[in-house]
Amino acid sequence: MVLRELGGPVRLEEVPIPKIGSNDVLIRVRATGVGLTVVIMTATPGRVTAYPRIPGHEVAGEVAEVGSEVTTIKAGDRVTCHFYLTCKVCPYCRSGRETLCSDFKGYVGMACDGGYAEYVAIPAVNVCPIPQGVTDLEAAIGADAICTPLHACREEARVGPGDRVVIVGAGGGVGIHAVQMARLCGGYVLAADLTDPKLEMAQTVGADELIDVRREELSKQVLAKTDGRGVDAAIDCVASPETLEACLRSLARAGRLVIIGSRPREVFKADPVFRVDAQWMLYRALEIHGSRYVSLAELAQTLELLRQKRIRAVVTRTFPLEGAEEAHQLHRQNALVGRAALIQE
Ligand SMILES: [Zn+2]
Repeated sequence: MVLRELGGPVRLEEVPIPKIGSNDVLIRVRATGVGLTVVIMTATPGRVTAYPRIPGHEVAGEVAEVGSEVTTIKAGDRVTCHFYLTCKVCPYCRSGRETLCSDFKGYVGMACDGGYAEYVAIPAVNVCPIPQGVTDLEAAIGADAICTPLHACREEARVGPGDRVVIVGAGGGVGIHAVQMARLCGGYVLAADLTDPKLEMAQTVGADELIDVRREELSKQVLAKTDGRGVDAAIDCVASPETLEACLRSLARAGRLVIIGSRPREVFKADPVFRVDAQWMLYRALEIHGSRYVSLAELAQTLELLRQKRIRAVVTRTFPLEGAEEAHQLHRQNALVGRAALIQE
C-alpha cells in the first residue's frame, strides 16, 4: 500500500521484494498495526523523506532472509521491530534514551519503507524476537501502542501503587493500553474520552472510573472523583491545548503531566501551544514530561508482559492489506476503538 504524496491516500501497487543490505533482515509481514500516528505523520511535512513510500511501523512477521553480517537473527525467527532509525552510538543511544538520538535518521515507514506490504527490510539491530505464546498480531501492536504506555507510565509518570492517574483519550489505540499499563503499575485509573464505545472499552479493560468529557469539563470531574485532591499523574494521548490545560488543573501537588499525543499544526490546522501558570507550577511543584516511544529494552519488556498475559492487545478491527486506506479513513473520523491492524496469512 503505497503513499505517493503528503497526506494522500495509500493505494495497492505491485512492487519488487525489497533488497536487503548486509546488516538488514527481510521480514515476511504477518500483521501491521494501523494507528492515528501513521495518518498524522504521513500528513506532516518532513516526516516522509521520499515518495513513493510504503507506511507502517507496527510490524510483526517471520524473518525470510538475513544480510551477510547478521549473526543475531536467523531466517524463520518471528520478530517485531523498533521503529526509530537511530545511530546506536551517540550518548543518548548509549544511555538507553535512543528516541532522543542526536544523529536520528527518521522512522520506519517514513524514512524507509514499512509494513503495509508483504515484505519489509529492517536493520537487524532494530528487530526484537517475539516470545512463544505471543501472536504476530499482539507483537505488532506491542511495537508501539502497548510499549509507548510502558515508558510513559513507568519512567515519565512514575505511577506507583495507589497513585491516581487520569488517561485522556483512554479509548484510542495508545490510550486503551495506557489504562491497562497504569493499572499494572498499581495506579487507580480514571479513563477520559468522549464516545460511548471508547468509554465502554476503557471499562472493559479495567478502568476504575470513567470520565465522559461531553458531560462536564475534565478537571472538574477529576477533582470531584478524587475528593478535591487531583491526580498524581495525567497522561494525555490527545494533547490539544484544551486537554493539556485541563490536565494541569487536574494534578495533585507534585503531580506529573505526561504528553504522548501529537497534534502538528500543519495537520490539525490549530495552534498546539498551551498555557502554563508558572506560579501554579511552582507552588504545587508540578512536572511536565514529553514521552517519546521506548528503548529497545522496553520493547522487549512489553513483549514479555504480553507473554505473561499481564496486558491485553486491544485490536477491534482487522483488514486485509488493501484495507489500509479504509482504516485510515476510520481514524480520520475518530471512529476506531483501540487499534486497527492489517492481517496477512
Ligand atoms: Zn544515537
